[in-house]
Amino acid sequence: MARVIMCAGCGAKISRSEAAGTFCMKCYTYRFKGRELKDVKLVKCPRCGRISYRQWMEPEKLLDVLKEKLKTDKVRLIGDDRLLQAISTEGIEIEMPRLILFEEQSCRDCNRRYTGYFEAILQLRGDYEKRADKIIKMLREQTFLPKIEDMKDGLDIFVGEKRALNYVLTELHLKALKSYKLHGQKQGKRIYRTTYCVRF
Ligand SMILES: [Zn+2]
Ligand SMILES: [Zn+2]
Repeated sequence: MARVIMCAGCGAKISRSEAAGTFCMKCYTYRFKGRELKDVKLVKCPRCGRISYRQWMEPEKLLDVLKEKLKTDKVRLIGDDRLLQAISTEGIEIEMPRLILFEEQSCRDCNRRYTGYFEAILQLRGDYEKRADKIIKMLREQTFLPKIEDMKDGLDIFVGEKRALNYVLTELHLKALKSYKLHGQKQGKRIYRTTYCVRF
């Protein structure tokens, strides 16, 4: 059975699917025609789904972002790109539908991920085969791995962020021999790429 609500204007019983917020269509049109709220514009990364508002936020934070952006707590989501915002008019509070327009823009992390950017290479050498899966799994939880290459003498894992690599090596109590290779220059600064070699 469809859920039934009572229209806040005329008291008629209507099914929720026919309601506009808390009003029947007739009352809604009569009272609020021409007072529709503007669409809300937000920037979203098409690759990871994060939303940009001051910084890149996880998609689950959408409601919080909307509350902050619209400067009200009286907002709820009714779909991926739809919300209801409560406004007070003529002494009654009603919920007005509002559309969210997402402008697609790739975030910094995704840009890096898909352009082959990486900060370090982890070389596994010696008797590494039993350990490789675990290391790769842990790295993937922390960062992105643009490339994994089988070498004659081992495995080369390209690691997106050095920070993540250091974390995983520490967690697994692995010691690496580091070497630095000049990779290029950026704004007059030399960019080095670090190679970490772990021998088992
Ligand atoms: Zn009504
Ligand atoms: Zn992204």
